Amino acid sequence: MKKKPNYRLRRIVALVILILLILVPILIFNRANISHIPTKIKYSEYKSIVNSLYKVDFSNGEVRDMIETLKKKKKINEIRYDYIESLKDKGYSKDTIIYVLKNLSKTEMTKLLNRKYDKDLEEYVLINGFDYSKYNRYLSYQKNNKNVKKEDIVLRIELKIDLDNYEDTEEIEDPDSLLAYVNKHRYISKDYEPSDLVDMDDKYSNNYYGVNKLRKEAYEHFKEMVDAANKAGIEFLADTTYRSYEDQEIIYNNYAYEHTKDETDKYAARPGYSEHELGTAIDVSNVWYIEEGDEEYEWIQKNSWKYGFIMRYKKGKEDITKYAAEDWHIRYVGVKTATLIHNKGITFDEYWIKYVKKDN
Ligand SMILES: [Zn+2]
Repeated sequence: MKKKPNYRLRRIVALVILILLILVPILIFNRANISHIPTKIKYSEYKSIVNSLYKVDFSNGEVRDMIETLKKKKKINEIRYDYIESLKDKGYSKDTIIYVLKNLSKTEMTKLLNRKYDKDLEEYVLINGFDYSKYNRYLSYQKNNKNVKKEDIVLRIELKIDLDNYEDTEEIEDPDSLLAYVNKHRYISKDYEPSDLVDMDDKYSNNYYGVNKLRKEAYEHFKEMVDAANKAGIEFLADTTYRSYEDQEIIYNNYAYEHTKDETDKYAARPGYSEHELGTAIDVSNVWYIEEGDEEYEWIQKNSWKYGFIMRYKKGKEDITKYAAEDWHIRYVGVKTATLIHNKGITFDEYWIKYVKKDN
């Protein structure tokens, strides 16, 4: 007689295999994290760290804060007290020691201690936005741009000025924000379309090739600006405004058809990377695109900020914007921001790093 198959056993074996299949990857994946969670920290470790902090002239309150920070970062048992003393012996200031303890990994600290005293580092740690993980990039940028201040180097590395165009790119998270920041490293999702686009009137827009669209708030302010300009005897219109991803793709491909890739990238944004896709950028014309020297340009330069517009790609700022100057391209950012950018004489790129990214 044929033996009846043992279904129960098979079911158990299948279940065990299934559980293992789920559990093993989870365990492997978590191992790295688990190894970072400190086991019990010995009192003697605390005491030694506290003692050596006092040797660096920390006050009572500072020692408490430092220990709290190190605990939160689960670093206490990663930092040996002799790191602190060695950093002091090397000549590092309290500010640098605080930065190092808070931000560097044990490996990075060890490497730093094996190098000779680094005067540049002492200056860099005091700069807002300094990021040790980019330290080598600061140094090599500094080597090739000796007259740029360290503060500006930190900012420029944040803007990825040292990288090639379209290198290390990321999708922006807030295309609906009036302060959305798009450049050659930051792109808009292919599917994005502003929800408040409005059709522009012939009075304000060259609708010859189809009715131009703009986001509502930008349009309201543009109308005000054009009315004010007209009163002063200056005339201009919106020539190009909102473009979809597909529109930009066509423009880029048409340009690429007749030019080398480098030339194309210099004069046309790749699809996803054009500010026009935000619905707040306008190319302004009076028969021809407005250019420096035109009375319209002078008027816009002097007055557009009052209506919330900035001139986005200026001459002399090409190394920051990574765009050839576009005298006719303006962008709505709101009156408050436009006023600040105008008064400080900075680019939107610098503004974004200093005032928007900082708050995130
Ligand atoms: Zn433009």
